[in-house]
Order: sequence, then structure tokens, then C-alpha cells
Amino acid sequence: MLSKVMIVGAGTGGLCLAQGLKQSGIDVAVFERDRTPTDRLQGYRLHISSNGARALEQCLPATLFKEFLGSAAKSNQAVNFLDSNLKRLLTFAMVDGPHAESREIPVSRITLRKILLRGLENVVNFEKRFQRYEQRPDGSVVAHFEDGSTAQGGLLIGADGASSTVRAQLLPQAKRIETGIVAISGKAPLVSRHGSEYGSSRCGFAPACIIESVSRTKRADSRSSRL
Ligand SMILES: Cc1cc2nc3c(=O)[nH]c(=O)nc-3n(C[C@H](O)[C@H](O)[C@H](O)COP(=O)(O)OP(=O)(O)OC[C@H]3O[C@@H](n4cnc5c(N)ncnc54)[C@H](O)[C@@H]3O)c2cc1C
Repeated sequence: MLSKVMIVGAGTGGLCLAQGLKQSGIDVAVFERDRTPTDRLQGYRLHISSNGARALEQCLPATLFKEFLGSAAKSNQAVNFLDSNLKRLLTFAMVDGPHAESREIPVSRITLRKILLRGLENVVNFEKRFQRYEQRPDGSVVAHFEDGSTAQGGLLIGADGASSTVRAQLLPQAKRIETGIVAISGKAPLVSRHGSEYGSSRCGFAPACIIESVSRTKRADSRSSRL
């Protein structure tokens, strides 16, 4: 039986796993639909929990884990709500857990992806959009991609995100549920009235708003009409 592990998706989870398997000497290949490593330079911040940091420490070579820690921003002290004039409306203090290690580590999503990709140049295959898999009688699995190519291995892992195509085939009954809530966020430099940036470097400012989606309103309407 083939021993190669195939991972669909070069996101945070897929790349961390690939690093760990490579460190353990296991033959691994990752298949990512993006054309290049920098195709999706989006997203701003990810908070890595203490469990996540431990997983990264175990999976990454020591130099890369050090680089990850070095790229981290200072942990949040509080969450602030500001009005359009940056006047503070509300502050939630982020109380430290009993152990300092329980603090979350804030990192740039893009930097983390770059660190996770390091050393995997011969492992990650870009422009490979997974379509379906088939299981062979010999126990191996064959992955089919949109460009007509295939890859064969002993194990296929779906790390292709919340709308996973692997999961859709393996567990067709598992569906995502519309919660009726949409969050929109972004980042912008904080600039004073005089045009200078606050602080010695650019400060990320991430406004977020929550919108009640139409589908929820419709469901609420239909419920109330039944009552
Ligand atoms: C606004 C926002 C804020 C968040 N903040 C946090 C946070 O602070 N801390 C935290 O832990 N989590 C946070 N999350 C959740 C976090 O982003 C996800 O849990 C995490 O990215 C999941 O990683 P993943 O590797 O499973 O999937 P993803 O990171 O989504 O990666 C999936 C990869 O699979 C690829 N792919 C998809 N389909 C295919 C296909 N058919 N063929 C090949 N490749 C494919 C995609 O291109 C992508 O590269 C946040 C999420 C959002 C939306």
C-alpha cells in the first residue's frame, strides 16, 4: 500500500500538518487551488490559542517556530469600541488566565502562511483544485483535480476549509448552517487630523460590524406569520 499522505488545502491547518509530517519523515504532498503562495494576500490578524501555539511548536522546525513567535504582535490588553471620532465608547479588559501561557498570540495571517510554507517548496502543489476522490481495492486513494491530473496515496486529508469539497463527498449529510449573521472587518492605518500616522509604525485598526442577514429576517417573518 502507498504510504504517501495527501493533504487538500494549504491553509493554516493543512500547512501545519504538512510541516509536522515532514518533520517525522513521512512522505506528504499538499494540493492547493491557489495559483501561487501570494494569490490571496488577505486577512489581517489571527489569534493563536495556547493549544494552537503548542501544536505549531510540535510541528514546526525550531527556527520556524522562533520566527513565528518573533512575528507576533503584543497580546491584546482590551477590546475597545470607538465612535467615528475615535472616542472610546466601551472597553472590555482582557483578563489574563491563571497561567501566562493561556494568553493568545496575535499574528498576521499572511506572515503565518509565509512561515508555514517555508521548507515545503517541494511538498505544496499550487493550481491543483481538488474535485473528487476514489478509493481503490488495494486500499489506496486517488485524488482527481480540475486540470484532469490525479495523485495517488495511502491517505487523503481534507484541510480545504469550511466549504470543504473532500467533506462534501465523504459526509454529504454534513451541511453548513446559515446563522443569519454576517461579520465584515477590515484594516486601515490610524492617521491623525494632521496626516501623520499614530505611533512609530502603522497601527492596524479593524472596524467590524454585524449585519442581520436577509435570510434570517425572512425566517423570522415566516415564523411570526405562523403564530
Ligand atoms: C474573520 C475571521 C477571523 C478569524 N479569527 C480567528 C482567530 O483569531 N483565531 C483562530 O484560531 N481562528 C480564527 N478564524 C478561523 C480561522 O481562519 C480558521 O479556523 C482557519 O483558517 C481554518 O484553517 P484551515 O486550514 O482549516 O482552512 P483555511 O485556512 O480556510 O484553508 C483552506 C485552504 O484550502 C484551499 N482549498 C479550498 N478548496 C480547495 C479545493 N477544492 N482544492 C484545493 N484547495 C482548496 C483554500 O484555498 C485554502 O488555502 C477566523 C476566521 C474568520 C473568517
